[in-house]
Amino acid sequence: MIPVNTPLLDGNEKAYLAECIETGWISSEGPFVKRFEGEFAHAVGRQHAIACANGSGALDIAVAAAGIGPGDEVVMPTFTIISPAASVVRAGGTPVLVDCSSETWNMDVAQIERRITPATKAILVVHIYGLPVDMTGVLEIARRHNLVVIEDAAEMHGQYVHDRPCGSFGLISTFSFYPNKHVTCGEGGMVVTDDEVIAEKCRGYRNLCFQAKRRFVHEELGWNYRMTNMQAAVGLAQLEKLESHVIRKRQIGERYLNRLEGTPGIVLPPTEAEYAKSIFWVFGLLVEEGHPLSSGDVMKALGERKIGTRPFFYPMHQQPVFQKQGLFLNESYPVAETLSERGFYVPSGLGLTDSQIDEVADALKQIMASV
Ligand SMILES: *Cc1c(COP(=O)(O)O)cnc(C)c1O
Repeated sequence: MIPVNTPLLDGNEKAYLAECIETGWISSEGPFVKRFEGEFAHAVGRQHAIACANGSGALDIAVAAAGIGPGDEVVMPTFTIISPAASVVRAGGTPVLVDCSSETWNMDVAQIERRITPATKAILVVHIYGLPVDMTGVLEIARRHNLVVIEDAAEMHGQYVHDRPCGSFGLISTFSFYPNKHVTCGEGGMVVTDDEVIAEKCRGYRNLCFQAKRRFVHEELGWNYRMTNMQAAVGLAQLEKLESHVIRKRQIGERYLNRLEGTPGIVLPPTEAEYAKSIFWVFGLLVEEGHPLSSGDVMKALGERKIGTRPFFYPMHQQPVFQKQGLFLNESYPVAETLSERGFYVPSGLGLTDSQIDEVADALKQIMASV
């Protein structure tokens, strides 16, 4: 079996975890949490980092700290994991969607401006799969219209736009440490910002909005999204390896590209934009239009050969949960719809070996040639 993801835990993870057990520091009060926050903030060039339970929680915190609430519109991509849209909807805000660019699979920055109305409060950027969004363009639009920028950089550990790290753009950025990210701690997330007031709000939202002076008296509702010392111990060890993780991810991407180039019926992923080269968070593919096999057929055939896959994201405007709330009715975003219909990704985790990559590529070529 070649699973869709295998993490790589060959650094200080074990030693740091042992330290948690030996010292008895397993809760969120332990010293690894502060250390991880400090190192992480430094790595992305931010003043403040707030560790939390997962990347979806990080988005809840970011949206709350940005003050998004009823009546506020937030421009965001339709092609994304549900987390950012869920955070906005739960906060009472309204996601306003834009389609993808077929060149980068990211939100098409050229479509943002026509979605801005007097009710627009923020642009929520989500970097997708390996290439970041063109942040220069986004920041320029945000400045012109006086909008907050929130950056979901969950898939962009170690990625840059020109020479600026992903996670350093806009008011608040968020990360996830789910096991398929370049830095994992099992489950975990991070909110980063340069604004001291926002950082303090985020710390409050992470911790039930307890107050310093009157602890059990609450002015606002928060969450228990605290990160444990054990998660932070693993996260810190992973962060120490970030550079080599990015190098390995790029090697995995390059090897797949070489092996799969020219395969009939397969569209390879975008590998670079003018401002960045892909870090291949996952290695995604499309089945060419008009091919007799659907992406579901190909994923099933790979599954029969014990090779794990995942379909691409399902666009927000087609989500039953949002349609039932009356959102996005009769909206259509053709590029996102095509990606979602034809796209899937193959095993791309850091634990993948070269021979496994070759096995996946060979299997895929055989399957595509079988019709
Ligand atoms: C993984 C991911 C998340 C969610 O992170 P979790 O830690 O799984 O909650 C959010 N946004 C994007 C873009 C992601 O890839």
